[in-house]
Amino acid sequence: MRVVLLGAPGAGKGTIAKLLTEHDGSVQISTGDILRAAVKEGTELGKEAKGYMDRGDLVPDSLIIKMMEERLQDEDCEKGFILDGFPRTIPQAEELKKLLERLGLELDLVVNLEVPTEVILDRLTTRRTCSNPDCQAIYNIKSNPPTEDGRCKICGSPVIQREDETEEAIMNRLKTYNEKTAPLISYYENERLLKNILSLNSRETVEKVKEALQG
Ligand code: AMP
Repeated sequence: MRVVLLGAPGAGKGTIAKLLTEHDGSVQISTGDILRAAVKEGTELGKEAKGYMDRGDLVPDSLIIKMMEERLQDEDCEKGFILDGFPRTIPQAEELKKLLERLGLELDLVVNLEVPTEVILDRLTTRRTCSNPDCQAIYNIKSNPPTEDGRCKICGSPVIQREDETEEAIMNRLKTYNEKTAPLISYYENERLLKNILSLNSRETVEKVKEALQG
């Protein structure tokens, strides 16, 4: 399958993408994960992207487009891909369209994951991450807390709040989403590719995506 997942930060794009890869061997491509890995490794891309990411701003289109042009031509994309976090702006969507045309490929579906704002805010502000770069286990202070002294249950390292998950950065990410990414909903509606799915339970959402792909 060749699918784009749209949705606000915290809508669960990563979780849904992972579950969908189990379906037919398509790969998950998360621009956020690729960028975080580049920051960790200290590559040129990582150095350029870090400031934008920490503030909750978007990384410039030119960097993202170059990165995705390369990634989408990797061999593992042959069985299909699930794009999680890309495109994030209209220029990115237009470049993706041109790139896929050049490669002789078409998108099957664009899914817009609809999640109430209260649920999103709650998820983002309660999320914590293990600070050990080789572990990065995810915790939630309400539903899955770390140890009492704030350490990772797997490796014992301190569990922290990601820099882009402070309240200020979260509010900025949501504002950026509304201004820059939400317009993609009408863009893909016009392209006759859009399916809106109210997403409260990941397994149910995955079933709805599979149904939409068949219809
Ligand atoms: P995510 O994990 O998808 O929430 O992405 C984390 C951060 O990476 C975002 O807040 C942006 O700073 C950056 N980012 C990820 N994907 C993109 C994209 N397609 N365009 C611009 N910036 C991106």
